Amino acid sequence: MHTIHLNKDRAASLLRRHPWVFSGAIARVSGQPAPGDTVRIVDAAGSPLALAGYSPSSQIRARVWSFGTDESIDADFLARRLEAAVARRRALLDDRERTGCRLVYGESDDLPGLIVDRYGDFLVCQFLFTGVERWKDDIVRILRERVPCKGIYERSEAAVRAREGLPVTQGVLWGEEPPELVEINEQGRRYGVSIAHGHKTGFYLDQCANRALLARLVAERSVLNCFAYTGGFGIAALQGGASHVLNIDSSAPSLALAADNFRRNGLGADRFDNLAGNAFDLLRQFRHEGRRFDVVILDPPKFAETKVQFKRAARAYKDIALQGASLLNPGGLLVTFSCSGAIDLPLFQKITADALLDAGRQGQILHYLHQSEDHPVGLAFPESLYLKGLVCRVA
Ligand code: SAH
Repeated sequence: MHTIHLNKDRAASLLRRHPWVFSGAIARVSGQPAPGDTVRIVDAAGSPLALAGYSPSSQIRARVWSFGTDESIDADFLARRLEAAVARRRALLDDRERTGCRLVYGESDDLPGLIVDRYGDFLVCQFLFTGVERWKDDIVRILRERVPCKGIYERSEAAVRAREGLPVTQGVLWGEEPPELVEINEQGRRYGVSIAHGHKTGFYLDQCANRALLARLVAERSVLNCFAYTGGFGIAALQGGASHVLNIDSSAPSLALAADNFRRNGLGADRFDNLAGNAFDLLRQFRHEGRRFDVVILDPPKFAETKVQFKRAARAYKDIALQGASLLNPGGLLVTFSCSGAIDLPLFQKITADALLDAGRQGQILHYLHQSEDHPVGLAFPESLYLKGLVCRVA
């Protein structure tokens, strides 16, 4: 078998069961593995450590399938891993009030580079690593045999595929083409999801638990929902008894879908407004106009893709938190998120503290939030924690 020989003193992370082998850790590659081939990883003394998929064009040169070298990496192996991931979510799959959830979350589910989300009768996959691309046909067959569904669709993220040297692909992998909108039920909240055109695989499933929490905090309060997308938090707020929701997003089509989703939930046009525009500008304008809200939600897109961009990103997070906090009535709630992996929780908390200081407001953290439980964090793989949120009470 092809073998990757690590440099001296570069075995520690694998021994701690971190699943990535970076190019800089590699002394040499023996054999001529093709992209996606299974390779043996050995330490500088030649002792075997793991079996991994090989990805020659990525800085993450190999991702571990199995620690140790006893298992064969084949369709049966993948079936066992997929079955385990699905079995861990059995309660979610059986819950009729939860028809949208993540079934496979990559490395956290011991399936590097594979994402599978369920939206009602459809599964949506992302193949983000050559090692998993290699097994695509088997993975699709195993999924359709084990998870009842009408169709399986691919929505792989273009930028990640490019880094892996993979072509950008989208479309039906098996079964029926999904309709333009697939309705999911999230604990009584109904959302139309565009699998072909929505963000990520169609929806922000990772915020599910946070939407449920928000619903419990907002009774009779007015809510400004910035970066609203298709109304995820706004609908949760109104179902939790909020008096009114103002949704802001720069994308008019997303807001149109949000309006559709409010109707889907029987929430009348008197209870919400949609405003298309740049949140950075609108927050400033509202401050200038002296507008006030009881709750301000900030759930922006990823401002930092990499460590290099994190300073600019930190300024952007601070800016919206400062403006958002300034709009709060005394005792109001600032609900602020970052999904940038490059900004960790201590830094995000500091950014938020600095923002409140500059806004001349005092605050306390009531809740630390993260991604929902169907996006578990691998203890040996801290990179899988990307979503951080704070609920602050602002005096
Ligand atoms: N809170 C949403 C997800 C938000 S995704 C949910 O739970 O479903 C981020 C959203 O921010 C996208 O809809 C995008 O259109 C919007 N966006 C990006 N930049 C923006 C800006 N400068 N001003 C307002 N909205 C912006």
